[in-house]
Amino acid sequence: MQKPALLPDYDLVLANGRVIDERNGLDEVTDIAILDGMVAAVGPNLAATASNVRDVAGALVVPGLIDIHTHVYHKATSLGVDPDFVARRSAVTTLVDAGSAGAGNYDGLRDFVMRASPYRILAYLNISFPGIFGFDKGLFIGEATLSEMLPIDRCVAKIEANRDRIVGVKVRIGGPATGDLGLGALELALEAAEAVGLPLMAHIGGPPPSYADVVSMLRPGDILTHCYRPSPNSALDTSGRLLPEILAARARGVLFDIGHGMGAFSFESAEAAIAAGFLPDLISSDVHVISIEGPAFDLLHTMSKLLNCGVPLPQVIAMATNRPALAMQRPELGHLGVGAPADITILRETARSFTFRDVRDLSRIGTRLLSPVAVYLAGREMELARRPFEEHRGFGNGCCGDETSMPVCS
Ligand SMILES: [Zn+2]
Repeated sequence: MQKPALLPDYDLVLANGRVIDERNGLDEVTDIAILDGMVAAVGPNLAATASNVRDVAGALVVPGLIDIHTHVYHKATSLGVDPDFVARRSAVTTLVDAGSAGAGNYDGLRDFVMRASPYRILAYLNISFPGIFGFDKGLFIGEATLSEMLPIDRCVAKIEANRDRIVGVKVRIGGPATGDLGLGALELALEAAEAVGLPLMAHIGGPPPSYADVVSMLRPGDILTHCYRPSPNSALDTSGRLLPEILAARARGVLFDIGHGMGAFSFESAEAAIAAGFLPDLISSDVHVISIEGPAFDLLHTMSKLLNCGVPLPQVIAMATNRPALAMQRPELGHLGVGAPADITILRETARSFTFRDVRDLSRIGTRLLSPVAVYLAGREMELARRPFEEHRGFGNGCCGDETSMPVCS
């Protein structure tokens, strides 16, 4: 049958999926049309003139997932993992390296990792000149212990020359990362971020300094990562109350990121914080050599954890799409409006009983799991990898939960 000449002929229409797109206020079953790598139309009945239609009824169609805290300086830093592997396994289209590289070795991240990968890879540049250089299982050498290692001028110059991929400054504060320098490292990082007019992502580790002192220094638009870390230095005081400095920071526009990793996601912190109304702004994995095989695994697994902790599904999706895009000042990403790059993740939400674990090896039984169905990067379908850690585990545990109730503890 001949197509009507005046109607558009799309490359692909994803039909009948539940489209969740916070930026454009969408949460409904509809179609999305793709043409020349861009979103060409969103609405009902687009399939009629498409050369290729994929029926995704029953699936979630969301903007390409953005993992705003990863470590993918693969083979050049000891904590780096392969970005393509991470993206294939977790249905991510944009990975953001959070300070693996500093000014002294950013060029390698750009030339050997970013340019070699088909995925969108962006970065926060570490204020530390060598980046995170001494990190492995059982080896944690601080990269921000000496002010001489944190030359502001080098950081600023490297960012000015690489604004296409660098979205902010990173610093790790606390414990061995800063040693005696403590908040002095945060002051230097803030000075660099101020000079380039970009946000700072600050990691909060063990004390000193305190969570309250760190968050109190952050500016509107800066990100505190590891917001649900376990105590000591959690978001709650010894009586279990949310720190007042957190509420003050949120009120002035500081953003809070999960950054699960190997040591920074505790069910006790998460449950108490969520019960107190303190939800994260951003969900990220902090995937690296020590967290990639659990308990973080990746962004999608971390999203499922938050879902089972009671964060409603549309918010879980927004925290890994729209909100990280805006936090990075990359408004072209993280949404499915007409003209946006056709970065699209298709997920299935499965009702099944599954045992999740946190960084303290505490477990919770969840009933909902997000699994990848397909991923498109600028309109091109990308390969997906299996998720063996989510197969054949945790069956048979009776549990009841929904979007507003807490998971049942094991
Ligand atoms: Zn990290």
